[in-house]
Amino acid sequence: MTSARARDAARGRPVDGGGTAGDGAGRDRQAAPVTPGPLLAAADLVWPADCAGCARPGTACCVPCGRALRAGARSALPDGTPVRACAAHDGPARQLLLAVKERGRAELRGRLAGALVPALHDLLPHGPVDLVPVPARRASRRARGGDLVADLAARTAALARRRGRDVAVVRSLRVVRRVVDQTDLDAAGRQANLAGAFAVRGPAPGRPVVVLDDVVTTTATAAEAVRALRAGGAPVLGVLAVTLA
Ligand SMILES: [Zn+2]
Repeated sequence: MTSARARDAARGRPVDGGGTAGDGAGRDRQAAPVTPGPLLAAADLVWPADCAGCARPGTACCVPCGRALRAGARSALPDGTPVRACAAHDGPARQLLLAVKERGRAELRGRLAGALVPALHDLLPHGPVDLVPVPARRASRRARGGDLVADLAARTAALARRRGRDVAVVRSLRVVRRVVDQTDLDAAGRQANLAGAFAVRGPAPGRPVVVLDDVVTTTATAAEAVRALRAGGAPVLGVLAVTLA
């Protein structure tokens, strides 16, 4: 095993707790995100990481890349629903997200959550919030060892609560029909792929709802999540994402 592989193995801990889109809806207000354990700390001592944003050696995320991740980005869905993100989907912010999504850099999930808190504050400065993660396709959960967006939601809510904000995670959305990987689809194709794909399970959240996704590109996924939640009676106030294309 190369040192890089050993390091990734040490870091590649499943953090989802096995949750799937088919689980019962639950308000996991107390769910604590997994924190890096002694194994990870030891791995960092033995194999210091390169910055996932710019490849600078010696740190998993350097100061300038950490700043780029918090630059902020704003947009809106076609119906006017506001969208807020930590940063635009380019440069170091994009690299950091891809490192977590595609390269198993699980140690950076806390960084992403830490940048989501101010973006949430920008979207909704006051009051209680129910964060509803966009559900992952089964294939993507398998490939990534769990549901990344649900994990980011739990971490973001925990950090926001630590700062006195009443934020809960409610996994209200489920996938109700087969959705194909949309990497190669254009905007119209994505919209058709996703139309009617999500539904609310259990009682819809009654508190202000913010939909969370990792990246908002064509807005097709976010718009479908918002549509399903509103159809179920949830008061959706906006969409939050790590990056915004
Ligand atoms: Zn960097």
